[in-house]
Amino acid sequence: MNILTKSSLKKFPEYDNHKSIVYLNNPKTGLKGFIAFHKNSKSTPSFGATRYLKYKSEKEALRDALRLSRLMSYKSAMAGLKYGGAKAVIMRNDKFSKEEILKSYSQYLNRLSGKFITGTDVGLDLNEIKKMKNNCKYLVGIKSNPEKYTAIGIFVSIKVISKKIFKTSNLKGRTYAIQGVGKVGYEFLKLIYKNASNIYISDTNNKRLKFVHEIFPKTIIVKPSEIHKQQVDIYMPCALSYGLNKKSVNELNCKIIAGSANNQLESIAVADRIQNRNIFYAPDYVINAGGLISVVDEYKHNNFSAKRIKDGVSKIKYTIEKITNESFKKNISPARIANEIAEKIIHKM
Ligand code: NAD
Repeated sequence: MNILTKSSLKKFPEYDNHKSIVYLNNPKTGLKGFIAFHKNSKSTPSFGATRYLKYKSEKEALRDALRLSRLMSYKSAMAGLKYGGAKAVIMRNDKFSKEEILKSYSQYLNRLSGKFITGTDVGLDLNEIKKMKNNCKYLVGIKSNPEKYTAIGIFVSIKVISKKIFKTSNLKGRTYAIQGVGKVGYEFLKLIYKNASNIYISDTNNKRLKFVHEIFPKTIIVKPSEIHKQQVDIYMPCALSYGLNKKSVNELNCKIIAGSANNQLESIAVADRIQNRNIFYAPDYVINAGGLISVVDEYKHNNFSAKRIKDGVSKIKYTIEKITNESFKKNISPARIANEIAEKIIHKM
């Protein structure tokens, strides 16, 4: 794998002196992918979910692993956790059985002896993780429900931001546009459905879209290419990376952006443009940390306590409040404020 040499890695903009990268490769089962460790220490494991997705090339998969693992370090730092950030990406290959791919992936996890603790991200569900848990103990998100807590963290964050922008934290009558109604989008709908006014939804998976619409019939379906253009209070990117880019940023019609997707911003310049357009961007890794908080809790404690997890997740509101106040005071994008705080914490680690 020559893309893993230090000189090749340095050419990737996503490379940030990552501690190590594991190349996943088993030609017999079709497993191919990477586990990238951004930060780790000898005494504590690194946390990061596993993504199972179609990638055009190994390079593309590696870049996703690099940027997602870096973001996990930022997320962990901002959530007050002492764990390093990592991420696994598996290249979906429909010529092979997914079950076999995941089985051989769990063998790699076992070889890492607990240095990497993982769970579900895009493309994986609870049942698959449960099955893997039969051969591997380094999986989390089985007792807790990370998607639910991710949605709760975003919900409490939106309340804080709304207080600043709409002068009330009461979300009654608010309007939303949700890009991607997968696991997190669905959990979020449960929280807002009753009190919301218009809720626009989109998903590239029509079967999923139909399923969600049947459960939440007052949602309004729009094409994936139109979702970010809706005139709403809150736009929620809950799909994949870089939804906020040079093109889409000029088409936004919302007051707040607050979603679950990791790496929503194509660049920090996009965050500045959002700020100039008078739209509040809630930093992804700050408000979507509920899932991480819940799985870390599951890892640390034998007994499951929804209250303990909820208490942990609700602390996100203090972090987002601090960022919001600072952003208003200095008229700087919340993304820049959050990065500055996170980097200070990471450098002290
Ligand atoms: P998921 O795979 O269950 O849902 C993602 C949905 O987005 C899918 O239904 C997919 O069809 C849809 N989608 C993909 N591209 C799209 C596009 N261009 N337009 C509209 N829809 C599109 O994943 P998830 O677990 O709900 O996670 C969603 C995002 O939130 C991901 O970026 C993930 O990394 C991030 N995240 C998830 C968690 C968690 O607890 N699961 C925690 C933090 C962050």
